[in-house]
Amino acid sequence: TIQLPRPDHRRILTVANQKGGVGKTTSTVNLAAALALQGLKVLVIDLDPQGNASTALGVEHRSSVPSVYEVLLGEIGIADAAAESTQSQNLFCVPATIDLAGSEIELVTMVAREARLKEALRSEVLDGFDVDYVFIDCPPSLGLLTVNAMVAADEVVIPIQCEYYALEGLGQLLSNIELVQSHLNPALTVSTILLTMYDGRTKLADQVTSEVREHFGELALRTVIPRSVKISEAPGFGQTVLTYDPGSRGSMSYLDAAREIAERGSEGKTA
Ligand code: ADP
Ligand code: MG
Repeated sequence: TIQLPRPDHRRILTVANQKGGVGKTTSTVNLAAALALQGLKVLVIDLDPQGNASTALGVEHRSSVPSVYEVLLGEIGIADAAAESTQSQNLFCVPATIDLAGSEIELVTMVAREARLKEALRSEVLDGFDVDYVFIDCPPSLGLLTVNAMVAADEVVIPIQCEYYALEGLGQLLSNIELVQSHLNPALTVSTILLTMYDGRTKLADQVTSEVREHFGELALRTVIPRSVKISEAPGFGQTVLTYDPGSRGSMSYLDAAREIAERGSEGKTA
């Protein structure tokens, strides 16, 4: 049964921040799983050669499995590479293998190098594999893989860690998004800021939170993801926190964040 509004068109969200360790992968897999658990059909595209999103979703990413690398080369389609996650029905993942590591360089000489993923995601190509949501997990850089993710998407989700230097580098990220908007994908919007690893015991966390809310206003979700051991343990078991510890604060926070995202995007429509 579907408990959340179904979007009136397929929403493609890129989770980006060139800083490593801010919660991109964790947010990608848990938001995706939260939406899937509530009946929506969700695809995660792992665009980081580390393959952390694939691992967390219980999807194989040995070098020999069909992956996003072959998709970018145009050798196979998204549907050929998508594997079912062990974490939920309706949840699929196009894994990243180590082959992807060389692709930033290989892409440089390719035709339409910035639009390879967009091309692969065209709805005609996805026929028979129709999903409500696509989440793209970006690597910690602003290279061609991240550009491909931004060109393919309608929305950017920016996770921000409630820590020192949280806002450092954000200007660079936003100006890269503007470059993509003006040259490659005018439809792209920054739709969502997600505060992660919030530790209520520190003053700093509240300072970062209010600074972000002041700067981004409504774009920042009301839900803040707490720092939680359960969230960080889950991927070690090939799980999302939603199955690893369903009742935990971390799990509830990702369910709430997913609900906010679903409700914002659907403009009041219900399934
Ligand atoms: P990124 O993809 O941006 O590099 P990750 O999602 O991999 O960041 O998170 C970096 C590290 O922080 C990982 O070890 C992850 O398990 C941990 N982590 C992420 N979110 C939380 C959280 N809310 N509480 C505790 N640890 C977290
Ligand atoms: Mg990551």
